[in-house]
Amino acid sequence: MKLSGGCHCGTVRFSAEVDTDQTLLDCNCSICSQTGFLHVIVPHKDFVLEQGDGDLTSYRFGTGQAEHLFCRHCGIKSFYQPRSHPDCWSVNFHCLDQGHGWTPQIVTFDGRNWEQAAAQIP
Ligand SMILES: [Zn+2]
Repeated sequence: MKLSGGCHCGTVRFSAEVDTDQTLLDCNCSICSQTGFLHVIVPHKDFVLEQGDGDLTSYRFGTGQAEHLFCRHCGIKSFYQPRSHPDCWSVNFHCLDQGHGWTPQIVTFDGRNWEQAAAQIP
């Protein structure tokens, strides 16, 4: 399904071809729980950053493998580079434009015990 979305203020905008058969990961790690991030995994090749490239700010913590990207104007992280899928972006389901009609399956991901949880990703 072709979907679009972006940050709160509209500076960052993207479109993506999304596999809507995927089960979304609801992660309980320190940053996902604070930001309410619900993971839609999109291969890099299926994602287009339409605007806002110069307005993204980067944040790393822990192992530094994930790159958290947020809009420097409104602070919203609409997508980022996850540690679990190096060849994909993770898009926040809550940052997709309304009206897409997709009701995804959601499963919890124990990001507080990342190594064990990641080993169980199919
Ligand atoms: Zn913004």
